[in-house]
Amino acid sequence: MCNLCGGTHVVHEINSFSIGFTTCPECGPEPKEQFRARMDELQRRIEIVETQLESKGA
Ligand SMILES: [Zn+2]
Repeated sequence: MCNLCGGTHVVHEINSFSIGFTTCPECGPEPKEQFRARMDELQRRIEIVETQLESKGA
């Protein structure tokens, strides 16, 4: 597995002013399908959290 990005295709760029995300120079950009799968997973998690928040009753 890549040491720079750990297989995520994204590296964190930290300087004195900000933290940024940039494409891993070793692996190149993340494949579209992988990116979409990751976004879908993220969306699912957000929905789960929202459902939990709603069931608690704000
Ligand atoms: Zn990498």
